[in-house]
Amino acid sequence: MFDVIVIGGGAAGFYGALNIAEKQPKLKIAILEKGRNVLSKVKISGGGRCNVTNAEFQPEHLIENYPRGSKEMLGPFYRHSSKDTVSFFENKGIQLKTEADGRIFPTTDSSETIVNFFLGQVVKYGIKVIKNTAVIDLIPPDESNGKTETLWQIVCKKQIYNSRFLLMTTGSNMKMWHILSRMGYQIIDPVPSLFSFNIDDSRISGLQGISTNASVKILKKNLTSPDITVGLRSKSRTTGHLIAEGPILITHWGLSGPAILKLSSWGARELFDYGYKFKIQVNWIPEYHSNSVVAVLGEIKSVEGKKTVLRTNAFDIPKKLWGNLVKAAGIATDCRWADVRTSNLEHLGSVLCASEFEVNGKSTFKEEFVTAGGVDLKQLDFKTFGSKLHPQIYFAGEILNIDAVTGGFNFQSAWTSSYIAALAIASASEQNTK
Ligand SMILES: Cc1cc2nc3c(=O)[nH]c(=O)nc-3n(C[C@H](O)[C@H](O)[C@H](O)COP(=O)(O)OP(=O)(O)OC[C@H]3O[C@@H](n4cnc5c(N)ncnc54)[C@H](O)[C@@H]3O)c2cc1C
Repeated sequence: MFDVIVIGGGAAGFYGALNIAEKQPKLKIAILEKGRNVLSKVKISGGGRCNVTNAEFQPEHLIENYPRGSKEMLGPFYRHSSKDTVSFFENKGIQLKTEADGRIFPTTDSSETIVNFFLGQVVKYGIKVIKNTAVIDLIPPDESNGKTETLWQIVCKKQIYNSRFLLMTTGSNMKMWHILSRMGYQIIDPVPSLFSFNIDDSRISGLQGISTNASVKILKKNLTSPDITVGLRSKSRTTGHLIAEGPILITHWGLSGPAILKLSSWGARELFDYGYKFKIQVNWIPEYHSNSVVAVLGEIKSVEGKKTVLRTNAFDIPKKLWGNLVKAAGIATDCRWADVRTSNLEHLGSVLCASEFEVNGKSTFKEEFVTAGGVDLKQLDFKTFGSKLHPQIYFAGEILNIDAVTGGFNFQSAWTSSYIAALAIASASEQNTK
């Protein structure tokens, strides 16, 4: 019998348990974890460095990084934002550093720092961590028996636990979503998010490891509505072609990097529906478009007439990539600018600003990946992260239909939701015992 049982020993579970214990040290708290180890994802996160959060501290900008859950997370981020996460860790003696792109890591560059911190804190607060214990069913409190205090039954293979409060932090786990669905919860179908695009194309072959700034557009099927740039909250619910601008990385299998991952996140559901077979259009020089670039190419032709096109890369494009694009435009390797025909200049313009690629599949390679989908947010009260369907049960982290682009934002929603749930549980437990 416990006051609080946290189901799932991941980021949200530990942050939640710890915050409950800080507010109500006398509560008997346990974390139930199905695996042999706790905090496994924290350990491998951020390439082993754990990108704990992001230096985007304004809630209204923070939510722009959440393709799912942005509207609902605005209020919660006002109560516990990335700034509060930084304070939380720094007040506990964990030094953090911010990288140029806003990602925040422990100064040790090791996720062990965060894992060991949590493991130390659960010992300090007497929180019981019960491993190798998968929860296989949940039986809600029976409110009909007239008791003022009722208990949840948590069914595991070898034992049934009882608890006044439940904090559900099982991440993206199908079995738990099935259990919840049997209990009447709507579960939004889970689909992968944050993946690279598989592309087999001569324009990028042999260029693995090259990174450049580009604008990438997913060409949605049967669509006539206008383009939308991802991440702009006001536009995120329209149905235009998705565009992301930023670094892209050429890999052995196709394209990756922040701009591609962003698109995979905002387009997660549609790309799943397409079976990960779709077209993208890449603008390798986002400051120009197909029409304006032809005039620029014409200028170069008149000024650099004697030089070969291959050797004169007038734009900020990696050399080898420029070479492949020039070839793709049908311009011979020894062709001088003066000899390029107008039709070839136009072709080069469209290769530079509107190269279409066929995507055939997706990959995740050691990078962060998350699941889009989970417990439908309509069933929660976002002041507490408590259920609207059952008493004394709260949800936090990836179990919910909330997910973000890369950069520390996925952990941030786990910290915020579990912190607010922890406050609510601590306060409800106080009222319960009065
Ligand atoms: C490789 C990788 C790197 C990442 N890097 C980053 C990063 O640097 N920054 C960032 O913000 N995000 C990152 N993420 C995403 C981030 O790890 C998740 O969003 C976050 O871990 C979600 O936390 P959670 O506590 O909700 O779920 P989880 O961390 O998945 O924890 C859920 C726990 O519940 C347990 N569980 C499940 N079912 C049961 C059950 N029935 N009974 C008992 N226990 C159960 C699981 O075993 C697990 O331990 C990364 C993800 C991956 C895969």
